[in-house]
Amino acid sequence: MYPSDPGYAPSFDTRLAQAETLCQERGVRLTDLRRRVLEIIWSHPKPMGAYAILDVLRGDGRQGAPPTVYRALDFLLEQGLIHRLASLNVYAGCCQPGSRHGGQFLICRDCGQVNEMNSPAVENLLCAEAAAHCFEVLTQMVEVLGRCPDCQRGTSSDVG
Ligand SMILES: [Zn+2]
Ligand SMILES: [Zn+2]
Repeated sequence: MYPSDPGYAPSFDTRLAQAETLCQERGVRLTDLRRRVLEIIWSHPKPMGAYAILDVLRGDGRQGAPPTVYRALDFLLEQGLIHRLASLNVYAGCCQPGSRHGGQFLICRDCGQVNEMNSPAVENLLCAEAAAHCFEVLTQMVEVLGRCPDCQRGTSSDVG
């Protein structure tokens, strides 16, 4: 359930190409800036806040202002290429951008690493429970706070 091997993810280029194709199919434009923001989020091992993204953009030599970054992030969120984790106010790349989903997120309290699960069983159960309360579910995102395997073992290389 918690893939310990980071190599399971498709390569960077494959994912970018996939994002390009998705945008093309939907008739929306993955502009240079949007693409770069997506790249930054994907290449970072942990979810990032908007200002950290802005810092990287400025390091690129771009004239970035917060609204520009937020617009790019909104676009990527709308297209389901990234998720916003409300509890930490950070953005994480989606591991299954092709399909619409809420997702369940295992967030490590200690190192900030996030693991996205898309368990249909959890989603269905939540929908069923909500329906029992006559509640119409529009989207569901589950954020679970805990400790990742590395932090449990005390071997996390990163304390940030
Ligand atoms: Zn996702
Ligand atoms: Zn951790």
